[in-house]
Amino acid sequence: MKGGRSTLAVVERYCVFYADGCVLHMIGAAEGDKNMYKPCTCITFPLDRSCHNTWYVRQKGYKYENWDLPCLDPSASHHSPAESLAEEISFATYFDLGLEDWRK
Ligand code: SF4
Repeated sequence: MKGGRSTLAVVERYCVFYADGCVLHMIGAAEGDKNMYKPCTCITFPLDRSCHNTWYVRQKGYKYENWDLPCLDPSASHHSPAESLAEEISFATYFDLGLEDWRK
């Protein structure tokens, strides 16, 4: 657990699948789909579900966010979330439609 959230197994502060990038991402990309082996949470990050089961963008200072990552700082980008997170939003939509249920 980190900040009250479940994580994958961690070794020396890093996800066990991290080795100069996400190994699951790299293997999937080499096979034609970068998301093929990644957990849903990794694909949709920084989108998350609220307690009302609606999606929102995790960001510093919102909903008790306690991860201190530059990518969660809204001032770090001049693009709207709709632009910069188009791929993640698209995946979340597929997930809500049940098209990614095999990942559960
Ligand atoms: S994207 Fe997910 S699986 Fe890949 S290294 Fe990061 S936390 Fe691990």
